[in-house]
Amino acid sequence: MPAPSYCRVCGAAIRWTITEARKRLAVDAAPDPSGNTAVSRDGRGTWLSRRPTGDLPVAPYERLHTPHVATCLPPEPEQTRCLGLINLSEVREQEDDRP
Ligand SMILES: [Zn+2]
Repeated sequence: MPAPSYCRVCGAAIRWTITEARKRLAVDAAPDPSGNTAVSRDGRGTWLSRRPTGDLPVAPYERLHTPHVATCLPPEPEQTRCLGLINLSEVREQEDDRP
């Protein structure tokens, strides 16, 4: 296991992944069965993330995680610094899909 990264804002353990759109997305380091992002590791050790779909549900080699932006709790009003690291439109899209 590689050393975890830590959120610069709230200090939580996070994992940087690359989405299918080649964007960086930080997810909570611990898997979350209720998360909406499927995370896997490719043959070169890169963490990849994607949205599970009806056609491509979560595979046995993938674990569900929650995007960190959904759980980040900055100790001070410095949220923009954390949010600036990720693709906001993508996160909003994901949140819109939630039940
Ligand atoms: Zn955070």
